[in-house]
Amino acid sequence: MPDLDATIIRGAIALICASVVSVVAWRKRLLDPGGAVAASFAGTALVAFGGWWAGILLVAFFLTSSLLSVSEHDHPSRTWQQVVANGAPATAFAALALLLDAPTLLVSSAATIAAATADTWATEVGRQSGATPRSIKTLRLAPIGTSGAVSLPGTLASIAGSMTIAILAALLAPLASMPVSIGFPEQLVIVICGILGSLIDTFLGAVFQARYQCVTCDMRTEEPLGHNPGHELVLESGASWLTNDAVNLTASGIAGVIAALIVR
Ligand SMILES: [Zn+2]
Repeated sequence: MPDLDATIIRGAIALICASVVSVVAWRKRLLDPGGAVAASFAGTALVAFGGWWAGILLVAFFLTSSLLSVSEHDHPSRTWQQVVANGAPATAFAALALLLDAPTLLVSSAATIAAATADTWATEVGRQSGATPRSIKTLRLAPIGTSGAVSLPGTLASIAGSMTIAILAALLAPLASMPVSIGFPEQLVIVICGILGSLIDTFLGAVFQARYQCVTCDMRTEEPLGHNPGHELVLESGASWLTNDAVNLTASGIAGVIAALIVR
């Protein structure tokens, strides 16, 4: 049985910390108002279920990803959908670890954060490196920022991102009196599943993600909400409900499931 009192007390303190972090992030325009509310809830739930260890890993993902995208002056604030896509899988595995009394599922929780980090680092570094990515579907060169296309700098960044979360997970584990040890095998699982998650993300993005063609300005976009609202978009390929956020959520979730299967 989980220690309910400890969980509630930790959750209450986490609510205060997560709210402070979210308000600061909103003031710095890293989160929009909906994103800040979602981040408060996600951070609180993750720490309540998975402990401070998991919460710090998620903050590390968020901070490093924001730092990497800072140089892009027009980078929009993160929305609640993005926060849910990046935080929900980690929270779900942490909740299962506590409720099923299966602490090894915390490795899955870390693996989902490694996957989100790998994917975001790959996107940001790939975009800023100026290297032209290649679509994994057609193997043709694709415009920078295209989902389902990879470049060498982006791929190296995804490996570095996944490794960073795995190393941090191992460094923090002794301090957090974890119910599971994060030794070298667990670190390896986190790194590999993080990279796998990023690859699955690329694959899903290439094959299934919604892509739109603008009738008005002839541009292609994957972000209908970010496009000029006066313009008329038609769905060119993929499924309209399968947004970039839904792809991220699915890919991280699969990374967590694979980690759970290996660690068992
Ligand atoms: Zn347009």
